[in-house]
Amino acid sequence: MKNLIVLFLTAFCLTACSQNNTQNPFGLTIINNKVAYKKSIEAKPENELIEIKEAIPTITLDIRYATKNNFMKQVMYKQPRAFARKPVVEQLKIIQAELAKKGYGLKIFDAYRPYAVTVAFYEKASDKNFVANPAKGSKHNRGCAVDLTIIDLKTGKDVPMPTPYDSFAPEAAPHFNDLPPAIIKNRDFLISTMQSHGFKVIYNEWWHFDFNGWQNYDLMDIPFQQL
Ligand SMILES: [Zn+2]
Repeated sequence: MKNLIVLFLTAFCLTACSQNNTQNPFGLTIINNKVAYKKSIEAKPENELIEIKEAIPTITLDIRYATKNNFMKQVMYKQPRAFARKPVVEQLKIIQAELAKKGYGLKIFDAYRPYAVTVAFYEKASDKNFVANPAKGSKHNRGCAVDLTIIDLKTGKDVPMPTPYDSFAPEAAPHFNDLPPAIIKNRDFLISTMQSHGFKVIYNEWWHFDFNGWQNYDLMDIPFQQL
């Protein structure tokens, strides 16, 4: 009888643990398995992570964390793909159409980022101001942040901005104004375009935009290949 009870409890725990979100050492709830992810979509369809390139085929991807060309100098993603929550991608689609009329297009550097990658960034980063603290997680982990710039559709080249992507320089701050006027104009055009469609630029990175309402989405830790 005692063995039966143990067996029952073990089976119950295995089922419950695999179906529910697990809490990490910081007490954060993190969706880290497909069952919990599917349940979250059933409860709220907006939770679905949409592959950006599939929804917006004209968009350019330059997924630096799938290469060694990033501040970590190592490959962090096995696949060069970009995902974001459904409402985020819907807005990006509108932005892309609006930019196209002016001869521009979006180029995505990063979007949804599994939580484990945020932990690795924090351990390695020289300047912790530029990486999210794992105790809170990143809005990228919620599928609600995008790193991007604008390209000129005629040349296919990046529109000149204050710094390269992922620069830890003070010039990366959106309010840094000791720059050539043409550069300020480009940066402010990007920021105002994004902000008129539900995004907010972060205080120290001109390329990073949080989607308004990010608080309503859980942190996630599922790699791209499992989505
Ligand atoms: Zn970012």
